[in-house]
Amino acid sequence: MADRYRKFTSRGAGAFVAKRLGLPRPALLERYRPGQPVARGPVVLGGAAGGRMRKTLRELLDAAGAEVAQAADESSVRAGALVFDATGIGTSAGLRALYDFLHPRIRELAPCGRVVVVGTPPEDAAGAGEAVAQRALEGFVRSVGKELRDGSTAHLLLVAPGAEGGVESTLRFALSARSAYVSGQALRVTGTAPVPGTADWARPLAGKTALVTGASRGIGAVVAETLHRDGARVVCLDVAAQGAELAAVAARVGGGALESDITAADAGDRLAAYLGAHHGGVDVVVHNAGITRDRTLGRMSAGQWEAVIGVNLTAVETLTARLLGDGLLRADGRIVCTSSISGIAGNVGQTNYAASKAGLIGYVQAVAPEAAARGVTVNAVAPGFIETRMTAAVPLVIREAGRRMNSLKQGGLPVDVAEAVAYFAAPGSGAVTGQVLRVCGQALLGA
Ligand code: NAD
Repeated sequence: MADRYRKFTSRGAGAFVAKRLGLPRPALLERYRPGQPVARGPVVLGGAAGGRMRKTLRELLDAAGAEVAQAADESSVRAGALVFDATGIGTSAGLRALYDFLHPRIRELAPCGRVVVVGTPPEDAAGAGEAVAQRALEGFVRSVGKELRDGSTAHLLLVAPGAEGGVESTLRFALSARSAYVSGQALRVTGTAPVPGTADWARPLAGKTALVTGASRGIGAVVAETLHRDGARVVCLDVAAQGAELAAVAARVGGGALESDITAADAGDRLAAYLGAHHGGVDVVVHNAGITRDRTLGRMSAGQWEAVIGVNLTAVETLTARLLGDGLLRADGRIVCTSSISGIAGNVGQTNYAASKAGLIGYVQAVAPEAAARGVTVNAVAPGFIETRMTAAVPLVIREAGRRMNSLKQGGLPVDVAEAVAYFAAPGSGAVTGQVLRVCGQALLGA
């Protein structure tokens, strides 16, 4: 659904009126286009003394073709990104280095720019003082995200000691337009095993097979297209009632169409048979299918409860167990679940839905350590307000509130969720597991 308010306030009289009245003026967010450089302008790289990431960051930025200005020698560049290695900060007083780096530069950040702070997960800190300082980074980045304007966003990358070699895909995601609707989030890079190499960052999924459930429309259809763009063969799954739309999406991505109800007793058998026969297995599983049956708890029927838990949560557990158990999910496989900020913050009328989506967070956290032995990662995206048919049906006033109550003052697009899914799905993201990435423009809900 078109965001007419954003268009109205973007120029002319609308922009003038909104400015005078202090109304939100959502920026036009730049989305990723193939061939686009990783950063939108020069990257200024800085770091606290004693940091362990600066050299790696420099190498990765060079490899990505970014124009890098060291903090010491930069002239008055209008930075596309400000990247700071905070791993050297071991005391609260040492946080001053972060202030000193960003304070003089942040107001000159280019539109749709990035602030990326790289730290150590506090749980891996060498002592209490370092844990305090590293935990402080999260409050800092969340606040920066709320202060930035013109579509710029802030990201915190927490890299465990020994996991430095696995940070490249996360750095690229954070810097690039793929993360247009992600801000104020902490992403942990913790895997210390070698990460599969990426020959072509434009097509990281070349040679891989991906399954997307609920692929006939909405977010699932765009996930299928995005994984196809990134090189994957895509198997699109949806219920038989969506057969025509499903076939159209599958045709668009040159992939397969599997009509199946994921809650049916034979869903696992049919899926296993299809993947085994057509692809000999699967590399990426995106659990996207989901339903709502909203009612306040006192008015909710048992059927409404059962339906939502069954589709959104139990089917994810059952199908994944089957694919893992049969060995159909290949080594270095990727499982991506679709949670929701409702599962983080709760929502009136959504006890069933929020329980299912919070359950998925528990699921990725529980299954990730078990799956790690085979190099399989298990992560979730948690979308906020995304412009789909589902949100277009929400009454106007609630819809407007949902759209604007985030740092970017607008709803996200299905492609924003799809880019986050594609990031988790990439072979290079092997060091990232058990994570929940909010794709919500830094929504106030559950923040
Ligand atoms: P949608 O209703 O447009 O698409 C969901 C798809 O899942 C449909 O094609 C539907 O047929 C399919 N599906 C439902 N039950 C199924 C079953 N039993 N077996 C197989 N397929 C089934 O929804 P959407 O807005 O694109 O949402 C996609 C996912 O993102 C869902 O999990 C949803 O909960 C989640 N999400 C959406 C938003 C949003 O703002 N749209 C926000 C947070 C989370």
